[in-house]
Amino acid sequence: MAGRLEGKVAVVTGGSSGIGREAAVRFAEEGAKVCVVDLADGPGEEVARLTEGLFVHADVTRIGDVKSMYAESAERYGGIDVLFNNAGISPPDDASILETEEDAWERVQNINLKSVYLCCKYGIPYLLERGGGSVINTASFVAVMGAATSQISYTASKGGVLAMSRELGVQFARQGVRVNALCPGPVNTPLLQELFAKDPEKAQRRLVHLPMGRFAEAREIANAALFLASDESSYVNASTFLVDGGLAGAYVTPE
Ligand code: NAD
Repeated sequence: MAGRLEGKVAVVTGGSSGIGREAAVRFAEEGAKVCVVDLADGPGEEVARLTEGLFVHADVTRIGDVKSMYAESAERYGGIDVLFNNAGISPPDDASILETEEDAWERVQNINLKSVYLCCKYGIPYLLERGGGSVINTASFVAVMGAATSQISYTASKGGVLAMSRELGVQFARQGVRVNALCPGPVNTPLLQELFAKDPEKAQRRLVHLPMGRFAEAREIANAALFLASDESSYVNASTFLVDGGLAGAYVTPE
């Protein structure tokens, strides 16, 4: 039986860990050729081995790196059909606006938002060359909901990713390129663990708002990315694709 991504080539940024790693694995299981992009070489090479794909070391905030990661992927596999622009950070020095300094603000904007601009700017032309494709930009539920436990630059960056994805989805729709913003709720990955899962009180402050009473697993988000990458989502475009266990729809949670 043919896989859901048979014949497709996907570039996954932040592919060494968490959501990106699971997505690379799911994409490969469904027949895609996968190019794993990350700064973390060891784990990235391991994912490339697992997926029988390619690992490219690149910093997605740098134009030169972004151009060459696409050139390498296209040269190896003959073109590109799917961009999963997923690399991101959530550092502890990005917090309340009253405490967040300019360097933290800029670092987060660069890695979470400018990277998506660069990856779309230099990646979409490859999709156009193939007559279409799918772009999935990882935003977050914080692009649509406010949190009193603020990470102000992170939230602003994800709002930017959401608005940019919508606009690109509208612009390129008639050329066969779909662009969607994947908005996960809190996911049990190193990014989240580093931030608060190690601290039970901080974790509880969030868990109480989740209808399911648990964080998502990376594979549950990767499965949504797989759907958006595949032709099964051929009429899903410019969307705010929430995968949050009902968080954004909740007022009061069950006991
Ligand atoms: P993660 O920390 O497990 O993985 C992120 C990966 O991105 C890491 O491997 C890291 O090395 C890589 N990366 C960071 N900066 C990079 C750069 N400049 N160039 C290339 N690679 C770089 O994180 P995750 O939880 O899997 O998050 C993936 C995406 O999902 C992020 O955009 C994050 O903001 C978003 N997200 C996460 C959650 C969550 O709760 N974990 C919720 C909503 C959205």
